[in-house]
Amino acid sequence: MTLRVLSLASEAVPFVKTGGLADVAGALPAAVAPHGVAMTTMLPGYPGVLARLGAQYPAPKSKRAKAAGPKVLHEWEAIFGHSARLLAGTLDGAGDGAPLLVLDCPALFDRPGGPYGNEAGQDWPDNGLRFAVFARSAADVAGGIVEGMEFDLLHAHDWQAGLAPAYLKFAPYGGHSIPSVMTIHNMAFQGHFPAALFHQIGLPASAWAMNGVEYHGGVGMLKAGLEAAHAITTVSPTYALEIREPHFGMGLEGLIRSRGAQVHGIVNGIDPAEWNPATDAAIKSQFTVRSLAKRQANKRALEAEFGLDRNDGPLFIVVSRLTWQKGMDVLAQCIDHLAGLGGRLALLGSGDAGLVGELSAAAARHPGRVALRIGYDEALSHRMQAGGDAILVPSRFEPCGLTQLYGLAYGCVPVVARTGGLADTVVDANLAAVKAGAATGVQFAAVDYASLSGAISRAILLYSQQDVWRAMQKAGMSADFTWRQSGAAYAHLYRSIALENSRA
Ligand code: ADP
Repeated sequence: MTLRVLSLASEAVPFVKTGGLADVAGALPAAVAPHGVAMTTMLPGYPGVLARLGAQYPAPKSKRAKAAGPKVLHEWEAIFGHSARLLAGTLDGAGDGAPLLVLDCPALFDRPGGPYGNEAGQDWPDNGLRFAVFARSAADVAGGIVEGMEFDLLHAHDWQAGLAPAYLKFAPYGGHSIPSVMTIHNMAFQGHFPAALFHQIGLPASAWAMNGVEYHGGVGMLKAGLEAAHAITTVSPTYALEIREPHFGMGLEGLIRSRGAQVHGIVNGIDPAEWNPATDAAIKSQFTVRSLAKRQANKRALEAEFGLDRNDGPLFIVVSRLTWQKGMDVLAQCIDHLAGLGGRLALLGSGDAGLVGELSAAAARHPGRVALRIGYDEALSHRMQAGGDAILVPSRFEPCGLTQLYGLAYGCVPVVARTGGLADTVVDANLAAVKAGAATGVQFAAVDYASLSGAISRAILLYSQQDVWRAMQKAGMSADFTWRQSGAAYAHLYRSIALENSRA
């Protein structure tokens, strides 16, 4: 029997993306479909989402034709004071993909800037209310507010969707509740708001409790979802264990430990339609595991694009948000070491101004060896994975990580911190793994100068043994990091929860 799942996310490709969550939410419907799960995704109506949705409904040719525009499935007179409509579309943007619902609430979501803040990068002061309205509307949909539309389970992603499981538990629409799953894509973002918000968001007094939404005297949206959901997932098995400890749990470690049996780690997949070196239109020279020599043209092109010296020594790349989480301060410290050993580095990233300054100063000391591009450039990130020899990912914590997976798929050997999904997806080139032909990269711990510079030295040494390096590239490219396995794992989890709930 087909299981009907409502997936609630604040981002999903191709509609809106600021990070890995968007890739996951966008890919899930197709990943679970082969396993009997019909997934509908629900997004807030940001301007970009509404524009793309509108484009799915071309203007009618004849004047007499019905007015073009997305179908309106429901209208709310007011959700916590704001009128809203539920619009229908499809996720792939072309009009024939998985079903999409969009909450069109102009007062809260039709604003310039990003999904969470203004053009200057400052968070909207009413983010608490914005995502409470989003979660409430989803709970209404889950409860059957749209005639003929029913769901068996709700899947909430990150704090922005965290109140939805709480509404299903404490205030279900029409008294009709369904089970829910809460996924943590990054524990560092918890959606914590002042207590005053509680009085605006339509929850009963009983929800102001330890097992409800109250968190350190305020409203904790991720916390609320973690308490109320029937199961919790995060995006790698190692991260699922790490968040039981204070350093990674960031205050929620006790809750995670108390729900231990319901916490699952499922690694993200990558979309082979987007990330496949054999078909990638963004790269100069396409290649496969059997034609690795063709990568060389991409390396030459990358050197030229970044103004780096042209040679056959190792070329490292970094594609990253420039933040403390990503270990970019430690990377800046190690740049002299990398260049001193004959390595070169091409970095693409955007983020903290302080880190941009540190990295720029280091790059300036090594013209021709180290070059930076500050900004966000999807196509360039493809060219870098295709032309770089190794990708550095020195994250202090990394729930799953995608860039190392792209590196594996593109023969760009990952050099990663041994944490979260990085630990789960990269096989360290220890002697046994090299001998068995299983090694796919280099792991190091902890994230500090000594470890990262040691890992860079190891990578350069491995690179000098070209037969070993080739074997690592081939093992990485042959590994399966598509959604095949993870789609099955999510579907299995949904089904077991739905079954348990029907028995309860
Ligand atoms: P996070 O979601 O924590 O930023 P992930 O590794 O899970 O980290 O996902 C980051 C995604 O964003 C990847 O798809 C990566 O290629 C992309 N990305 C990060 N920075 C840039 C950039 N400056 N330009 C292009 N793509 C980037």
